[in-house]
Amino acid sequence: MTRYTGLVDAYRDRLPFGPDVRAIALGEGRTPLIKLENLPKKVGFGGEIYVKFEGLNPTGSFKDRGMTSAVTDAVHRGSRAIICASTGNTSAAAAAYAVRAGVTAFVLIPDGKIALGKLAQAVVHGAVVVQIKGNFDDGMRLVKEVAQTTPVAIVNSINPYRLQGQKTAAFEILEALGRAPDYHCLPVGNAGNITAYWMGYSESVGIRTSASMEGYKLGTATHGRPKMVGYQAAGAAPFLRGGIVKDPETIATAIRIGDPQSWDHAWKVQKESGGWFDECVDADILATQRLLAGTEGVFCEPASAASLCGALRDIKNGKIADGSTIVCTLTGNGLKDPDVIIQGGLKDLIQVAAERSEVEAALRANMK
Ligand SMILES: *Cc1c(COP(=O)(O)O)cnc(C)c1O
Repeated sequence: MTRYTGLVDAYRDRLPFGPDVRAIALGEGRTPLIKLENLPKKVGFGGEIYVKFEGLNPTGSFKDRGMTSAVTDAVHRGSRAIICASTGNTSAAAAAYAVRAGVTAFVLIPDGKIALGKLAQAVVHGAVVVQIKGNFDDGMRLVKEVAQTTPVAIVNSINPYRLQGQKTAAFEILEALGRAPDYHCLPVGNAGNITAYWMGYSESVGIRTSASMEGYKLGTATHGRPKMVGYQAAGAAPFLRGGIVKDPETIATAIRIGDPQSWDHAWKVQKESGGWFDECVDADILATQRLLAGTEGVFCEPASAASLCGALRDIKNGKIADGSTIVCTLTGNGLKDPDVIIQGGLKDLIQVAAERSEVEAALRANMK
């Protein structure tokens, strides 16, 4: 068996990298596809729900898939610096892959509204962190502007190599299931990831999408493709409003985006796959994050829980057929943002004296 080094080497023939291109890699990808065992029973669903736990990537989110690919390309072209705007996870990934490659990472983050774990990652990996007095959408605009006058490679998902790396998650799901799920549910911010998954599913069966590139093989599988379902946070839901949302607000900071960069791609995904967009309110997103952690042992970040939150609701209202197979992408790790849990729940702690009898009483009162 050869050592697994990461998705660029694992899927090189299906990515736009020749054999001579050196992969900038941290062993990303190969994340588990976990079958939920308790939740489907609890909600009376007769089908199967799987979660693709992308929080187990090296920096704790799916952004590593896109970043290994984008930084591999940038370094191959001779870039000495990369830049991104970020709600947090992109900057963490950019920082890690840049240091791996020996290039500079510049990251533009919004002032406030960034999970502390993500900021810590950018700092510890030595990125140059520029905090702007504005939101993600302002940062994205500025990145595009400065990249015209400064020699830096943009590694946001407008870089087509990002989506190339991210499409490999669909390949892994197809390998694990032996076929496509009926529905694939995702949280949607910039809509790069939903675009990438659709590209992965489509290329596996030999079909190019609007995000496809040249220079690699298409698959020859004969299974179908899933309906792609994108869930937004209600306060940041441009796909539901039909246009840019000026002041996006949500506790799910990773999807606090009002001007999605993959707008056109994502509408094509919806039409081609026969899926839909919908929205979830913050309270439901947080409740689902806790429900998943408390019933299945999987701790994802709030934005990630939007996928399962929407899926459970659409199971209940019949939009997702009973008996079907669903995959929900859990985009990031809950450990990045422990604050949301701590703020919502330290009242659950039981405080007792340091006495055996008191501890025993607490145990007896709380046995399942
Ligand atoms: C980036 C991110 C998203 C949104 O993905 P898009 O490709 O922008 O739609 C969702 N969840 C997490 C945790 C993220 O980091």
